[in-house]
Amino acid sequence: MLALQGAFREHRRLLESLAITVQEVRLPADLAGLDGLILPGGESTTMARLLTGYALWEPIRAFYMEGGAIWGTCAGAILLAREVRGAPPQFGGQQDSLKLLDATVQRNAFGRQINSFAAQLLVQGLDAPFPAVFIRAPAFSEVGTATVLAEWEGQAVLLRQDRVLATAFHPELTGDVRLHEYFVALVSRREIVAN
Ligand code: GLN
Repeated sequence: MLALQGAFREHRRLLESLAITVQEVRLPADLAGLDGLILPGGESTTMARLLTGYALWEPIRAFYMEGGAIWGTCAGAILLAREVRGAPPQFGGQQDSLKLLDATVQRNAFGRQINSFAAQLLVQGLDAPFPAVFIRAPAFSEVGTATVLAEWEGQAVLLRQDRVLATAFHPELTGDVRLHEYFVALVSRREIVAN
Protein backbone atom coordinates (compact mmCIF):
# COMPACT_ATOMS: atom_id res chain seq x y z
CA MET A 1 0.00 0.00 0.00
CA LEU A 2 1.12 3.55 -0.72
CA ALA A 3 2.61 4.86 2.51
CA LEU A 4 3.71 8.38 1.66
CA GLN A 5 1.10 10.08 3.82
CA GLY A 6 -2.31 9.53 5.40
CA ALA A 7 -4.25 6.64 6.92
CA PHE A 8 -2.17 3.68 5.73
CA ARG A 9 -1.63 2.07 9.16
CA GLU A 10 -5.36 1.41 9.57
CA HIS A 11 -5.50 -0.33 6.19
CA ARG A 12 -2.49 -2.38 7.20
CA ARG A 13 -4.20 -3.56 10.40
CA LEU A 14 -7.35 -4.68 8.54
CA LEU A 15 -5.39 -6.44 5.77
CA GLU A 16 -3.25 -8.27 8.30
CA SER A 17 -6.40 -9.42 10.08
CA LEU A 18 -7.21 -11.13 6.75
CA ALA A 19 -3.74 -12.75 6.68
CA ILE A 20 -2.59 -10.60 3.76
CA THR A 21 1.10 -9.77 3.45
CA VAL A 22 1.48 -6.00 3.34
CA GLN A 23 4.28 -4.02 1.79
CA GLU A 24 4.55 -0.25 2.31
CA VAL A 25 5.31 1.60 -0.91
CA ARG A 26 7.41 4.74 -0.82
CA LEU A 27 9.64 4.24 -3.84
CA PRO A 28 9.02 2.73 -7.31
CA ALA A 29 11.10 -0.34 -6.38
CA ASP A 30 8.65 -1.13 -3.55
CA LEU A 31 5.98 -2.03 -6.16
CA ALA A 32 7.94 -5.08 -7.31
CA GLY A 33 6.12 -8.33 -6.60
CA LEU A 34 2.85 -6.68 -5.52
CA ASP A 35 -0.54 -7.69 -6.92
CA GLY A 36 -2.71 -5.06 -5.25
CA LEU A 37 -2.11 -1.47 -4.21
CA ILE A 38 -4.15 0.68 -1.82
CA LEU A 39 -3.93 4.47 -2.10
CA PRO A 40 -5.06 5.62 1.37
CA GLY A 41 -6.99 8.66 2.52
CA GLY A 42 -5.16 11.76 3.66
CA GLU A 43 -4.56 14.88 1.62
CA SER A 44 -4.53 14.36 -2.12
CA THR A 45 -2.65 17.58 -2.92
CA THR A 46 0.20 16.54 -0.59
CA MET A 47 0.17 13.00 -1.95
CA ALA A 48 0.27 14.29 -5.52
CA ARG A 49 3.32 16.38 -4.69
CA LEU A 50 5.03 13.37 -3.07
CA LEU A 51 4.16 11.12 -6.03
CA THR A 52 5.95 13.62 -8.24
CA GLY A 53 8.87 13.90 -5.81
CA TYR A 54 9.37 10.13 -5.64
CA ALA A 55 8.69 9.65 -9.38
CA LEU A 56 5.83 7.24 -8.66
CA TRP A 57 3.15 8.33 -11.17
CA GLU A 58 4.34 6.26 -14.12
CA PRO A 59 5.38 3.18 -12.09
CA ILE A 60 1.88 3.06 -10.52
CA ARG A 61 0.23 3.37 -13.94
CA ALA A 62 2.53 0.62 -15.24
CA PHE A 63 1.66 -1.53 -12.22
CA TYR A 64 -2.00 -1.32 -13.24
CA MET A 65 -1.35 -1.87 -16.95
CA GLU A 66 0.60 -5.01 -16.10
CA GLY A 67 -2.40 -6.48 -14.24
CA GLY A 68 -2.23 -5.03 -10.72
CA ALA A 69 -5.39 -4.00 -8.85
CA ILE A 70 -5.68 -0.56 -7.22
CA TRP A 71 -8.04 0.72 -4.52
CA GLY A 72 -8.16 4.42 -3.77
CA THR A 73 -9.89 5.55 -0.59
CA CYS A 74 -10.88 9.21 -0.19
CA ALA A 75 -7.74 11.18 -1.14
CA GLY A 76 -6.53 8.00 -2.87
CA ALA A 77 -9.73 7.92 -4.94
CA ILE A 78 -9.05 11.51 -6.00
CA LEU A 79 -5.63 10.42 -7.28
CA LEU A 80 -7.29 7.78 -9.52
CA ALA A 81 -9.84 9.94 -11.31
CA ARG A 82 -9.80 11.05 -14.92
CA GLU A 83 -10.40 14.66 -13.84
CA VAL A 84 -10.16 16.44 -10.47
CA ARG A 85 -12.40 19.41 -9.65
CA GLY A 86 -11.90 21.72 -6.72
CA ALA A 87 -8.10 21.74 -6.59
CA PRO A 88 -6.80 24.61 -4.46
CA PRO A 89 -5.96 27.91 -6.19
CA GLN A 90 -2.21 27.48 -5.63
CA PHE A 91 -2.49 24.47 -7.97
CA GLY A 92 -4.06 26.77 -10.55
CA GLY A 93 -7.25 24.74 -10.11
CA GLN A 94 -5.45 21.75 -11.71
CA GLN A 95 -4.36 18.61 -9.93
CA ASP A 96 -2.44 15.69 -11.44
CA SER A 97 -4.07 12.28 -11.31
CA LEU A 98 -3.47 8.72 -12.50
CA LYS A 99 -6.52 8.80 -14.82
CA LEU A 100 -7.21 5.11 -14.29
CA LEU A 101 -10.84 5.70 -13.26
CA ASP A 102 -13.29 6.91 -15.88
CA ALA A 103 -15.01 9.52 -13.70
CA THR A 104 -14.68 13.11 -12.58
CA VAL A 105 -14.08 13.65 -8.89
CA GLN A 106 -15.21 16.71 -6.94
CA ARG A 107 -13.03 17.34 -3.88
CA ASN A 108 -14.75 18.11 -0.58
CA ALA A 109 -18.18 17.41 -2.10
CA PHE A 110 -19.84 17.05 1.32
CA GLY A 111 -18.30 20.13 2.96
CA ARG A 112 -15.40 20.81 5.26
CA GLN A 113 -13.78 18.88 8.12
CA ILE A 114 -16.57 19.89 10.56
CA ASN A 115 -19.11 18.38 8.19
CA SER A 116 -17.51 14.95 8.51
CA PHE A 117 -20.05 12.20 9.19
CA ALA A 118 -20.62 8.48 9.39
CA ALA A 119 -23.32 6.80 7.31
CA GLN A 120 -24.80 3.35 6.88
CA LEU A 121 -24.26 2.86 3.20
CA LEU A 122 -26.12 0.44 0.97
CA VAL A 123 -23.48 -1.18 -1.23
CA GLN A 124 -24.31 -3.30 -4.25
CA GLY A 125 -23.17 -6.85 -3.48
CA LEU A 126 -23.18 -6.53 0.34
CA ASP A 127 -26.23 -7.86 2.23
CA ALA A 128 -26.07 -5.41 5.15
CA PRO A 129 -25.25 -1.65 5.13
CA PHE A 130 -21.58 -0.70 5.39
CA PRO A 131 -20.50 1.83 8.06
CA ALA A 132 -18.76 4.53 6.03
CA VAL A 133 -16.84 7.47 7.49
CA PHE A 134 -16.78 10.58 5.31
CA ILE A 135 -14.01 13.07 6.15
CA ARG A 136 -13.79 16.01 3.73
CA ALA A 137 -14.93 13.39 1.28
CA PRO A 138 -15.07 13.72 -2.48
CA ALA A 139 -17.88 12.48 -4.75
CA PHE A 140 -17.82 11.18 -8.30
CA SER A 141 -19.72 12.57 -11.27
CA GLU A 142 -19.67 12.10 -15.03
CA VAL A 143 -19.09 8.44 -14.45
CA GLY A 144 -18.16 6.82 -17.76
CA THR A 145 -17.42 3.11 -17.97
CA ALA A 146 -17.08 2.67 -14.19
CA THR A 147 -19.93 1.02 -12.25
CA VAL A 148 -21.51 2.87 -9.32
CA LEU A 149 -21.72 0.46 -6.35
CA ALA A 150 -23.00 2.98 -3.78
CA GLU A 151 -24.46 6.47 -3.59
CA TRP A 152 -24.98 8.88 -0.74
CA GLU A 153 -27.44 11.76 -1.02
CA GLY A 154 -27.66 11.15 -4.74
CA GLN A 155 -23.91 11.32 -5.27
CA ALA A 156 -21.77 8.36 -6.36
CA VAL A 157 -19.35 7.39 -3.58
CA LEU A 158 -18.17 3.88 -4.51
CA LEU A 159 -17.05 2.94 -8.00
CA ARG A 160 -15.53 -0.09 -9.60
CA GLN A 161 -13.95 -0.29 -13.00
CA ASP A 162 -12.20 -3.51 -13.91
CA ARG A 163 -9.33 -3.79 -11.36
CA VAL A 164 -9.87 -0.30 -9.94
CA LEU A 165 -11.95 0.33 -6.83
CA ALA A 166 -12.62 3.86 -5.56
CA THR A 167 -14.34 4.81 -2.32
CA ALA A 168 -15.04 8.45 -1.44
CA PHE A 169 -15.19 7.47 2.23
CA HIS A 170 -12.81 5.81 4.70
CA PRO A 171 -13.55 2.06 4.85
CA GLU A 172 -10.66 1.31 7.23
CA LEU A 173 -11.80 3.17 10.34
CA THR A 174 -14.63 1.02 11.68
CA GLY A 175 -13.20 -2.50 11.67
CA ASP A 176 -15.68 -3.78 9.07
CA VAL A 177 -13.54 -5.90 6.75
CA ARG A 178 -16.06 -6.54 3.97
CA LEU A 179 -14.69 -4.02 1.47
CA HIS A 180 -11.14 -5.15 2.16
CA GLU A 181 -12.30 -8.69 1.42
CA TYR A 182 -13.93 -7.43 -1.77
CA PHE A 183 -10.65 -5.85 -2.87
CA VAL A 184 -8.65 -8.95 -1.98
CA ALA A 185 -11.02 -10.96 -4.19
CA LEU A 186 -10.38 -8.49 -7.02
CA VAL A 187 -6.64 -8.87 -6.53
CA SER A 188 -6.71 -12.63 -6.33
CA ARG A 189 -8.27 -12.85 -9.78
CA ARG A 190 -4.69 -12.36 -10.92
CA GLU A 191 -2.43 -13.83 -8.29
CA ILE A 192 -2.69 -13.71 -4.58
CA VAL A 193 -0.34 -11.77 -2.31
CA ALA A 194 -1.70 -13.55 0.70
CA ASN A 195 0.50 -15.91 2.60
N1 GLN B 1 -10.33 16.37 0.93
C1 GLN B 1 -9.12 15.60 0.96
C2 GLN B 1 -8.32 15.77 -0.32
O1 GLN B 1 -8.70 16.40 -1.21
C3 GLN B 1 -9.40 14.13 1.15
C4 GLN B 1 -9.80 13.86 2.56
C5 GLN B 1 -9.55 12.47 3.01
O2 GLN B 1 -8.80 11.68 2.43
N2 GLN B 1 -10.13 12.15 4.14
O3 GLN B 1 -7.26 15.22 -0.40
